Amino acid sequence: MRKRVAGIVTAAILVLLAIGAVGVQTAGGKYPRPNVDSDDLSFYRAPITTESYPQTPARRVRNVIFCIGDGMGANQVALARLKAVGPEGKLHMEKMPVGGLVRTHSNNSLVTDSAASGTALATGIKTENGMIAMAPDEQPYFTILELAQADGMATGLVATSAITHATPASFAAHVKSRKMETTIAEHLIANRVNVLFGGGRKFFLPKGAPDSARKDDRDLIAEAKQAGYTYIETTAELRTVRHRHLLGLFQPEALTTAPPEPSLELLTQKAIGTLRRANVSSAGRRKGFFLMVEGSQIDWACHDNDADNMIRQTLLFDQAVGAAVDFARKDGRTLVLVTADHETGGLTFTAGDKNAAGPKIHWSTKGHSGAPVPMYAFGPGAETFAGVYDNTEIPRKIARLLDIRPFPRPRK
Ligand SMILES: [Zn+2]
Repeated sequence: MRKRVAGIVTAAILVLLAIGAVGVQTAGGKYPRPNVDSDDLSFYRAPITTESYPQTPARRVRNVIFCIGDGMGANQVALARLKAVGPEGKLHMEKMPVGGLVRTHSNNSLVTDSAASGTALATGIKTENGMIAMAPDEQPYFTILELAQADGMATGLVATSAITHATPASFAAHVKSRKMETTIAEHLIANRVNVLFGGGRKFFLPKGAPDSARKDDRDLIAEAKQAGYTYIETTAELRTVRHRHLLGLFQPEALTTAPPEPSLELLTQKAIGTLRRANVSSAGRRKGFFLMVEGSQIDWACHDNDADNMIRQTLLFDQAVGAAVDFARKDGRTLVLVTADHETGGLTFTAGDKNAAGPKIHWSTKGHSGAPVPMYAFGPGAETFAGVYDNTEIPRKIARLLDIRPFPRPRK
């Protein structure tokens, strides 16, 4: 009897280990959550000093890396800092020399969703919640990514959600509703974004294929290959592949944000390496690149009021920010921006019990809040991001720095 129980226990442990190893998402809350120990933050490499990075000498901006922490308000950053480096420490994003504060309301609500705020951050216009890169009257607007591409720059989108999710979609698709993810997948490929890294394979696979969410026979992965993309779906492939058009779909839905899947940091490093090689002209001149990197699941952890997962997701994102800044410091002509599309959870904390190990955490909603969000900037042009401004100002400032005008610009 005893032996049998031990056998069952062993089997159960093995199953749990197997699940943990592949990072299967569990349904504890409404949102997918990686099946990893949220307290294990050993992946995080804190900055060595708390000194701010020096201001970059004024030069023309060649590359832009736009990092968006979905749902990442100032208190999300503060709690991640407390946990990772203590009250006196600094995260990578907090070492950036310029700070700002961003308003986030949408056209029809004091509290935005990720579609309207993504649209504001990508096109410079306000729209209604749910709409992707078009005005409330359904007039599509060019995104800063599309106009950078038209100018000869290489472009990339990296996310830990499906790559068709609202934030990445806002930079290279135009639809009435964020729910039209199969159409968004078509737009992303048609737009020939050089690097597309994230989850969401099911929106690219034809009807009938395992995991497919499409209602037609189009195989967007085959279409992408025909159009010149190299398609990858594993970390091993990611490490070795070299091509100027990469479609990397590492999960059917959202990423697990756990090994063996590539980390957001590795995806960001690969995207940067790919984009900087993607468009060297025959004369050997670089036209630069525009890359958007999203820490998509900070928002989901906050919707679940799950502080441990929120902190883990924020630190995974900060690690990717660190990789972007590492590149920018060597390059000297790369602007790195870090902000959020909105705050999620109405998060605050108080000192709590004298004997408690950490702060007492308070959530005021399971949805988004109207709290302003922080902006951190590094690189040439960073100083233009100081102060208090609207989210629609961000791509307008980028457009000015890249000499893209007019902006905003309707698609005729
Ligand atoms: Zn959300």
